[in-house]
Amino acid sequence: MINLISDTVTVPTKGMLEAMFNAKVGDDVFGQDPSINSLQDKLSEMFGMEAGLFCPSGTMTNQIAIKTHTNPMDELICDHSSHVYKYENGGYAYNSGIGIKLIRGTFGKIDSDQIIKAVNPNYDWLTNSRLVVIENSCNSGGGTYYNYSEMEKISETCKALNLKLHLDGARLFNVLVETKDSPIEIGGLFDSISICLSKGLGAPVGSVLLGQKEFIAKARKFRKAMGGGMRQAGYLAEACSYALDHHIPRLKEDNDRAKELGIVLERCSYVKHVLPVMTNIVIFELKDFISAEKFIEILNNDGIVASAFGPQKVRFVTHLNIDQAMIDKAKAILKELSLQFKD
Ligand SMILES: *Cc1c(COP(=O)(O)O)cnc(C)c1O
Repeated sequence: MINLISDTVTVPTKGMLEAMFNAKVGDDVFGQDPSINSLQDKLSEMFGMEAGLFCPSGTMTNQIAIKTHTNPMDELICDHSSHVYKYENGGYAYNSGIGIKLIRGTFGKIDSDQIIKAVNPNYDWLTNSRLVVIENSCNSGGGTYYNYSEMEKISETCKALNLKLHLDGARLFNVLVETKDSPIEIGGLFDSISICLSKGLGAPVGSVLLGQKEFIAKARKFRKAMGGGMRQAGYLAEACSYALDHHIPRLKEDNDRAKELGIVLERCSYVKHVLPVMTNIVIFELKDFISAEKFIEILNNDGIVASAFGPQKVRFVTHLNIDQAMIDKAKAILKELSLQFKD
């Protein structure tokens, strides 16, 4: 099976399992798990932040960040295709009691002018604009990314407008292998950052929220309230540390393989268009004669698993468990289908 449904499907490598097996653990609710403490330190140092918080998922790190930055009746500003808006069950409203202002960005990316226009004036009847969330890479945008100077502009704008800025960096390392931007410099632009270790980096579970000490101390309380205080989760944290030590450079391979798929799809008879492929995500729109559901069914019969991203849109994601032979096979299948659909 060639599973391109998501980069969350990866399973631990032998080396990672060995690292997990040898993890030193303790009770993290008491702050006594050495593997978790060391992961939090490792990532916060990497991004020049004061502290980190290990959580079970990227949804939880995002939700805790939103909760920690805002008060009820505040408003969050983000792109209309953001994960925090589309894929977290409206958690911003449920957990934080805040409103949301959606911006129509370009392939998931928003800019300073759009943020300036989205800020509410100070009236009794309007929510307080408080927080901006940007995603890097942009999942629904097709894996597009912001480089350092684009993020710097947004950061300056947010500072000037007294808005907090959170980075949903679920796949940030897929971006960094392309831009070569420095994590420390990026850390300086944000009030908080969420990093997923369970995506292309290949850990089975785990995300880390980064921020300044006071922010993380408050975030710890919200994590407990949300039921995210884990005990001997150092076994998981050790997998995450292993991923950071061993799996970052190879993300470039995932990105390059996604580009290979994108190039083939551009020329396929059933494809209307392919979103720009910049990292490890390929989103393409099908011509009207075939629905995403039907196309995915055909792919399944050929051993390829993918997800629908709308009635006519399909998403492929490359990752640790997809090798070059699988990509070559997938390309051959996509080309073969192109011939079939021509008739
Ligand atoms: C996957 C993802 C998350 C977090 O997802 P979890 O499955 O909760 O870990 C957050 N933001 C983006 C952009 C994502 O792709």
